[in-house]
Amino acid sequence: MNGRRGPTAVVVGAGLAGLTAATGLTAHGFDVTVLEARDRVGGRTHGIEVAPGALVDAGAAYLGEQHTELLSMMDELGLKTTPTTMTGASRFALGAETATRDGRFPPLNAVALGDLFDRLSELTAAVRPDAPWLSPDAGRLDALTAAEWAEQHLTHPDARLFFPLFLGEMTAADPADVSVLHLAFYLRSGGGLRYLNAFAGGAQQDRIAGGAHQVCERLAERLGERVRLREPVRAVHQDAAAVAVHTDHGRHRADVAVLALPPLLADAIDHRPALPVRRAGERTARGCAIKVHLVHPAPLWRDHGLSGWSVNDRGPLLSTVDDSPAGSGIGVLTGFVTGAEAHRFAALTPHGQRAAAVAQAAQLFPMLPEPTACHVTDWLNDPYSKGCYAALLGPGDWPRIGPALTAPHHRVHWAGTETSTAYFGLMEGAIRSGHRVVAEILART
Ligand SMILES: Cc1cc2nc3c(=O)[nH]c(=O)nc-3n(C[C@H](O)[C@H](O)[C@H](O)COP(=O)(O)OP(=O)(O)OC[C@H]3O[C@@H](n4cnc5c(N)ncnc54)[C@H](O)[C@@H]3O)c2cc1C
Repeated sequence: MNGRRGPTAVVVGAGLAGLTAATGLTAHGFDVTVLEARDRVGGRTHGIEVAPGALVDAGAAYLGEQHTELLSMMDELGLKTTPTTMTGASRFALGAETATRDGRFPPLNAVALGDLFDRLSELTAAVRPDAPWLSPDAGRLDALTAAEWAEQHLTHPDARLFFPLFLGEMTAADPADVSVLHLAFYLRSGGGLRYLNAFAGGAQQDRIAGGAHQVCERLAERLGERVRLREPVRAVHQDAAAVAVHTDHGRHRADVAVLALPPLLADAIDHRPALPVRRAGERTARGCAIKVHLVHPAPLWRDHGLSGWSVNDRGPLLSTVDDSPAGSGIGVLTGFVTGAEAHRFAALTPHGQRAAAVAQAAQLFPMLPEPTACHVTDWLNDPYSKGCYAALLGPGDWPRIGPALTAPHHRVHWAGTETSTAYFGLMEGAIRSGHRVVAEILART
């Protein structure tokens, strides 16, 4: 850094990772500028108003007790959790029948599903979360896509039917897009298969009352004019003296820069000197998730003993959950369109999307009248996310990009949930990456 003035930093991206980093650097005396491409902060957290004063999460929503950095940040910002509503029976449209069952275990062959989960748990236990490419058998697991693995290892039709639905729910991936190494890493990094998949006691136990976007909004409020919206960064050029970050509106010079972006977006920036290793691999794909919110005057399914949870092998809504904002009185059924289904759904007209979602919801929950509103949030085609929940690493990607994910490029440091070995892809991972990058920059001085 320099001896004459305080150190300076430019943070690119006002999502959870970027704003955590900006807050930490500001607290350590850095003069910080945050450059955000969108006209809002929050990135992959985003609240939309579905009724006057009632917001729902169009992006990230769920958290659990293991998400300690998120919980402590929420506490500091005065935000509370609200439990995810799962009281009542589930609906399952798997195969020809639509069934109602207590709990979340699907009406499929329990032994076949037990075998599937055992196999996945074995893979998960064997992977190294800090360096998946160094895990025993990494070469073989990296070479296989999850689709190929299923073809080789899952013999029972029920396991074959359920596996892509499970993968879609956990990672928003089409099994053809991810390597088995990535799948095992993702499950391990997130606390294991059972933790990630569970509501009570698991990673989906709670939501943030009023919406997850508030975390970034409150962080940005404190940072004030340091945060500049509508400033997409086009180029990051460095020399011996400084780093210059270029937007359409000008140039920001600083001692260090933090790029807190998903890998596919970090690669879209002109880097000079060039990056020694691109941030995304040859097969890195966009996470495929579209969220649909169907708004009703009340959560009518609850009157019929149903939780709103459903799992379906036909789209567009491969699962649904009750996301009604606490205390609002209205009913919001959230549908997840994931994996290959998300590509099909994204290609429909808005009218076609609404018609398909409403028809499926009516089949699953016949008590529902026509919704008062239907909101579709397409993350797959969002130019400033390029998919969600997180980047999907395919065969060859971990060994190539893994060792470079957090290695600083001269004055450029990396944050973002995809750089976190713990809770990769989750809000918790994004916040942890922000803390890591602050420690890394302080260690340079
Ligand atoms: C539908 C959906 C559901 C999810 N569900 C959950 C969940 O239940 N629980 C959970 O923990 N996580 C969930 N996630 C994942 C979670 O949202 C992310 O892990 C986390 O928000 C990522 O934060 P980040 O700061 O790393 O990246 P981002 O939030 O993507 O932030 C990056 C920022 O950079 C900006 N940007 C991009 N390009 C440029 C550029 N060139 N110049 C300037 N700015 C740029 C973007 O606009 C964005 O604001 C979900 C995500 C989605 C979309």
